[in-house]
Amino acid sequence: MKQGTLYVVATPIGNLADMSPRAVSVLEQVDLIAAEDTRHSQYLMAHFAIRTPMTPYHDHNETQQTPVLIEKLRTGASIALVSDAGTPLLSDPGYRLVNAAHEAGIKVNPLPGPCAAVAALSAAGLATDRFLFAGFAPSKSTARKHFFEEFSQQTATLVFYESSHRIVESLQDMQTVFGGDRLVLLAREISKTFETLHRADIASLCDWVKADSNQQKGEFVLVVQGAIKQAAGTAVDTGAVLAILLEELPLKQASALAARITGEKKNLVYKMALSLAAPDN
Ligand code: SAM
Repeated sequence: MKQGTLYVVATPIGNLADMSPRAVSVLEQVDLIAAEDTRHSQYLMAHFAIRTPMTPYHDHNETQQTPVLIEKLRTGASIALVSDAGTPLLSDPGYRLVNAAHEAGIKVNPLPGPCAAVAALSAAGLATDRFLFAGFAPSKSTARKHFFEEFSQQTATLVFYESSHRIVESLQDMQTVFGGDRLVLLAREISKTFETLHRADIASLCDWVKADSNQQKGEFVLVVQGAIKQAAGTAVDTGAVLAILLEELPLKQASALAARITGEKKNLVYKMALSLAAPDN
């Protein structure tokens, strides 16, 4: 029996006019649509008069649903995977299903389309020869700072997703870890009514967002300039050095040593140490 195809279909991230004609035609023609949230996707389907049956596929049922969907594909059904918005698998469910499809020898067909990370990157004017998609930072401040720390030496442009609940705190923690000088593009509500793109160094961007509560609403992508490459043998990152020393030494001693190692100002390193060692907020 001929196997079905798994289509991975990108859908709009705000503006329904960004739906591709091919996406509409595939969603009409498949036997089943696996949707992150069927109630949410119902609006999209209604708008395009798509009447294909839907089944939920999300983080909480993927273990049970994956073999069920793979069996349908093996026996000839074609399935389209969609998420609430944008490209499935990009900070969205679908990885297990697509992986299982490859392992079962089922054809996987991606339908390219909207993706907030790529849209923001395309408008950031920062290096795109290399970029690193880092997704969402953790919600607690200590974990978030450690997360940013992992990328602090990364020379590729960094792309983060963020929600309205944590945009201010995230920018503050970025400033603590990356310093205030790197350029960042904040892309808010891309393709929607209140779309805002604002590019500035981290310190100024942080002040700008804090000063205007309207700029704290909606969905965000932060595109952050990568670390400046240091000459060989001199690549010292204050935050990284500090994080290691803090694991072994008391705060004062760790910050004094980190300042000596990096040549950074003592009071600045001390402030960074306080912030890195601070309990979750
Ligand atoms: N798969 C989606 C994609 O392709 O972009 C991302 C899904 S993820 C669960 C949702 C996050 O993506 C939001 O919290 C925000 O960080 C980002 N995002 C989605 N739509 C956006 C938009 N219109 N403007 C800015 N960021 C957006």
